[in-house]
Amino acid sequence: MAKKNTNKKTVAEIVTQRFIDALEKDSIPWIKPWDDWKSWSRNTGDFYQGANLLTTSGGEYITFNQAKAEGIKINKGAKSEMIVKYTEYMRKISKEDFQAAGYVVTDRVEDHGDFYKIPARSVKYYNVFNVTECTDAEQKHDHKQPRHEWDAIEEAERIQKAYIEKSGLDVQTAGNQPLYSPSGHYIVTGRPEQFKSAAAYYSTSFHELIHSTQKELNRETGAAFRGSDGKAKAREELVAEIGAAYLMSYLGIENGYSINNSEAYVKSWISNLKNDPNAILWAAPKAIEAAELILAAAGVKVNQ
Ligand SMILES: [Zn+2]
Repeated sequence: MAKKNTNKKTVAEIVTQRFIDALEKDSIPWIKPWDDWKSWSRNTGDFYQGANLLTTSGGEYITFNQAKAEGIKINKGAKSEMIVKYTEYMRKISKEDFQAAGYVVTDRVEDHGDFYKIPARSVKYYNVFNVTECTDAEQKHDHKQPRHEWDAIEEAERIQKAYIEKSGLDVQTAGNQPLYSPSGHYIVTGRPEQFKSAAAYYSTSFHELIHSTQKELNRETGAAFRGSDGKAKAREELVAEIGAAYLMSYLGIENGYSINNSEAYVKSWISNLKNDPNAILWAAPKAIEAAELILAAAGVKVNQ
């Protein structure tokens, strides 16, 4: 094993060393390698903000009722997306409950004698539909989306396609937040034109593809991965990053190393890794195993 794998070891070593360097400097050079596609309301033309930007995949959105009012037909089987709206209001609360909850009287609390009114937020969820999911609905607002041009890399496409077919993974390109869903066994990659370069695109999609091997390769999944144990999540991220870097290296795609997934800049992620000195030793062989599973689907065997 040791002799055969000299090449692999080098890749893993280079990547892990960069990780360690970055961690030691406490400055992860996080660069988001894609541009978000904006989403907006057909009704107002206003851009969605905050979380709504992440839960929608970009473009113009219409609610069921707005569609009805405009005489627009939502296509059969159209997938709704979800947005939230917060409304501020003053909530009535008895003085006993106020005290029992340990609240304190501030400028924002209204004293009504028998009771207080305190600021509260109500949240409402709306299902919205992209106008591209409607019949004959022209986009109403002329908002421009960022679009980058770069040449697809044939071998990278072939490998991705072969693995996706073999693993039965669902792939969704529309979206501003690349991710892998273990429960749904699908990935969101983002649209190719959202990425600034071929390297940015492939390193991101490979990262998600590596995540998608976690069931087959028995890496920790479930509750541990989803956050009750930050250590497991940090380790899985490390696997995804090293695995993606390995695939990039195999394909000879130049990528100035950056931890490119948005998850990476979550502080807890980094501190978890720092408190887990064995993470890299654990992750590197897992990452290579995952990368080779992906390559094998396309009939590629490394160093054999
Ligand atoms: Zn990730």
